[in-house]
Amino acid sequence: MQVPPFSLTEQLQHLGEELDQAVLQVLRSGQYIGGGVIAAFESEFATSVGTAFAIGCNSGTDALILALRGLGIGPGDEVITCSFSFFATAEAISAVGATPVFVDVEESSYLIDLDQLEAAITPATKALLPVHLFGRPVDMERVCAIAAAHGLQVVEDCAQATGASWAGRPVGSWGDVGCFSFFPTKNLGGAGDGGAVTCNNPELAARIRELAVHGMPRRYLHTSLGYNSRLDAIQAAVLRVKLPHLPSWVERRRGLAQTYHQALGSRLEIHLPEVGPAGHSWNQFVVRVPRCPGASACAGSCTPAADSANYGLPEASCRDWLKQELQAAGVTTIIYYPIPIHRQPAYADLGYAPGSLPRTEQLCAEVLSLPIFPELAAEQQQRVIEVLSALAGKVQSQACASVAA
Ligand SMILES: *Cc1c(COP(=O)(O)O)cnc(C)c1O
Repeated sequence: MQVPPFSLTEQLQHLGEELDQAVLQVLRSGQYIGGGVIAAFESEFATSVGTAFAIGCNSGTDALILALRGLGIGPGDEVITCSFSFFATAEAISAVGATPVFVDVEESSYLIDLDQLEAAITPATKALLPVHLFGRPVDMERVCAIAAAHGLQVVEDCAQATGASWAGRPVGSWGDVGCFSFFPTKNLGGAGDGGAVTCNNPELAARIRELAVHGMPRRYLHTSLGYNSRLDAIQAAVLRVKLPHLPSWVERRRGLAQTYHQALGSRLEIHLPEVGPAGHSWNQFVVRVPRCPGASACAGSCTPAADSANYGLPEASCRDWLKQELQAAGVTTIIYYPIPIHRQPAYADLGYAPGSLPRTEQLCAEVLSLPIFPELAAEQQQRVIEVLSALAGKVQSQACASVAA
């Protein structure tokens, strides 16, 4: 049995007819840019997030860029975020001319360490940009309190957390702005790229809407330098079909996470992710394969993962070995993310040395994402559990031996 990390096959069987109709209707309407289907999706999406406004745009990356520009953040400004995230989180900050400032994450939650947040604030800091990584919501009451105490804006990176909530309130409704991605593997995925910005402030919503269409408040009047970043009508039509299913898809993800927790228990060789708050939307189920016990245990024969050597990350974990063994048994896993943002060649000029964000660097050497998506069949998940259980006990003995051999 093959278990993929993600697949749309099942979903397309269920929704195929409805999606075909929705796409055909747009195709035959001849209205591909703007129009009623966009407005309808934006209004439905805003309702689902609990904000007054949602503005569609062409990706989650653009949602972040538009949000930062809308808040007036630019050259000379600093934005505090985490380095354990998809690259776009920081890339968007740089794209508006501001500087990303990275705070380490907590080992237990994988999320930005709020205890370290205030120490990173300088007179140049304009905004906090927490990432609801893997679908787990950041403590937004604390983030908003810190922001209020220091007069900072809050931009939520909700790309992986559509359908998640903190203290019963959806992510994307806490900060000044919420930024969502509809990349196909996210909790609400389109048939291509797409994104949205959510907010409650009407002036901010209008500014973001203008920026997304060439800084153009009315036809051929350009009051700022903007972007061409619209959500396509076909994408909006697809997303309208899918949005009503989001709550049940997130529930299914929660059920799968619970099954992993129950079946894998607290195996010492592999650390499971924390159960986390009730509003966790489980876009990914990320385990940690602890670091190799080191020279004394494996006689120094463990080779560091290639990325460890090249990017100054902690030495050899048995993660890469486990990934290979799972693959050989038909279970495909993914490493989110092998290289932290602050160690990426593109950010060499920021000057973060190896060891500057130790937990982030350690996680990059240890994490492995197991298959989790709403249509993952019970038998497929059982297969993952079976294979992983059989391999787990070997992680710190066999892995080192096999590398040595
Ligand atoms: C996917 C993602 C983005 C970017 O979204 P795109 O739609 O791919 O541009 C930004 N931040 C995080 C955390 C993401 O996972």
